[in-house]
Amino acid sequence: MPAWVGIDLGGTNARLALVHQGQVVANLRFATEAGRGPDDLVHRLAAGVAELGRAAVARGLTLGGVGIASPGVLDRAQGLILTSPNLPAMAGYPLAQRLAAACDAPVALENDANLYALGEHRFGAGRGVDDLICFTLGTGVGGGLVLGGRLVVGPLGCGGEIGHTLVEPGGRKCGCEARGCLEAYASATGLVGALEEALAAGRPTSLRPGDGVRAMDLAAQAGDPLAVELFHQAGLMLGRALANLVALTGLDLAIIGGGVAKGWGLMEPGCRAALADRLRIVKPGRVRIVAAALGQEAPLLGAAAFAQTTLGSQPARQPA
Ligand SMILES: [Zn+2]
Repeated sequence: MPAWVGIDLGGTNARLALVHQGQVVANLRFATEAGRGPDDLVHRLAAGVAELGRAAVARGLTLGGVGIASPGVLDRAQGLILTSPNLPAMAGYPLAQRLAAACDAPVALENDANLYALGEHRFGAGRGVDDLICFTLGTGVGGGLVLGGRLVVGPLGCGGEIGHTLVEPGGRKCGCEARGCLEAYASATGLVGALEEALAAGRPTSLRPGDGVRAMDLAAQAGDPLAVELFHQAGLMLGRALANLVALTGLDLAIIGGGVAKGWGLMEPGCRAALADRLRIVKPGRVRIVAAALGQEAPLLGAAAFAQTTLGSQPARQPA
């Protein structure tokens, strides 16, 4: 019986998990150190896959294949990362092909926010639901859209990128160079950028230049008005984006995950208010907004499930 390896390839750490029937049965992690070069990273990933393959055999399982959750914009047909701010050294490198050759197993590559959404859809807060959006609030705002039980990426490959939808015309500049994207408000980068602008404008607060989202979260919990306002604003922008998406798709479930989602309690009132303000064609209360259930396991389970779906019909082992 095949088990599947899910890889969450981050800018700082690479995490690998052997997944069988939706459960992580073995896992390992190491520092990505992409600066050592793509071939070196593939060599270390392949060693990790081999170790998990031995763990599979020890449990009477075979290794079906590998799914990689990668940040950045991907060329799915070529199995490579086109651009990634977190992994610039991997741009243009045929990652899926090289890893498949190095570990003698088929490899599938997909965007990390999409696979986070797929993990929550199959095994987490979206289990049993065919239509959902999953926001991953981290350094940026990732999005994964599932409609009719399928991940939506579209012919351009950017489906579900709700972080780059417009929530404030002429607003703050986003990492993608456009103005007014959701990511410019509801990500760690957006929150810290908005804080720095407020500090430069002389707004009274206990926060100081260089403070991050954690400090902002603590300050907001302690009642700092600026911190409270910035989280409220982030929630408001999330609500605007969600209202647009609900009108467009009719979905009724939004899942909020990622490191910045720890501050969700501070964002939820703003999100609900924006949804009530913007969504008049259906009752906004019918849209459920819930916390992600799987945490850091979501992209690993999603990557393994993606590998099983896309590679499952191929032979368990490809000839060398
Ligand atoms: Zn953007």
